[in-house]
Amino acid sequence: MDHLTKLENKSIHILREAYANFKDLGMLWSIGKDSTVLLHLARKAFFGHVPFPLIHIDTNYKIPEMIAYRDNYAKKWKLDMIYGQNIEALQAKNTFPDGNCSRLECCKLLKTEALRDTLNGTGPRFRLNHETGEYEREKNPTAFTGVIVGVRSDEEGSRSKERYFSPRNQTNDWNIGEQPPEFWNQYKTDFAPGTHVRIHPLLDWTELDLWEYIQRENIPMVSLYFDQGEGKRYRSLGCGPCTLAVESTASTVEEIVEELRTGKFSNIAERSGRAQDKEDGGGLEELRKAGYM
Ligand code: SF4
Repeated sequence: MDHLTKLENKSIHILREAYANFKDLGMLWSIGKDSTVLLHLARKAFFGHVPFPLIHIDTNYKIPEMIAYRDNYAKKWKLDMIYGQNIEALQAKNTFPDGNCSRLECCKLLKTEALRDTLNGTGPRFRLNHETGEYEREKNPTAFTGVIVGVRSDEEGSRSKERYFSPRNQTNDWNIGEQPPEFWNQYKTDFAPGTHVRIHPLLDWTELDLWEYIQRENIPMVSLYFDQGEGKRYRSLGCGPCTLAVESTASTVEEIVEELRTGKFSNIAERSGRAQDKEDGGGLEELRKAGYM
């Protein structure tokens, strides 16, 4: 069995385990390459139909192509699509782009708190109505106890400390030292009632694995990843005001794979264009402990 097929099989196995063990399960879809590959794997794992909702935390500052891509494929693939947002902070203009707080504070409000409240059902949630093509506010949102997330160990330091099945406490906090061990690829899916669990089927994938798999499976990616003739492209996607493009003329998946194979970015962190990481000392650990994706 080749390397990509081994990775695919393991991820599909974890996805099916998650579906078998968690009643209130959802999957985060940030529209980036990792969670879009995860979505492709979920469609494969369940024969084309994803049997749990896809959740997007919309900061309102995402690059517009990302939202257009999300809605296009949510409709095409008939996804149960939900987005959550910190409406209160946005209305109060309590954000970094409005000049009223630091990047870390803004990420805490628009990402961490929005995610926490979307997952526990206390915040506003909007669900795609496939008949009208519009999003409607959910009337009685309930809590998700299992959430599938497309993080990879090699992407950034704090993510390498995650488990495949990683418990969070009632307030979404992450106690790194208290996670169950996962020796010899065995993992625990049995947690005390009410435990919120993050599930990470892509932990073993690298950036190159991901792009080789995108090439092999012909997975459509948002156009921002490709050079449009300006010698720049995004390597990692996020909010428009805080994400920089990298210098690259790669305009196809094949060219990105080639670029990564030649080691062009081997000394440049994948998230180097994400300004908020730098404010967290480059590690994101504080934000992730508090629930950041
Ligand atoms: S990435 Fe920038 S705009 Fe987005 S939530 Fe963080 S600070 Fe705010």
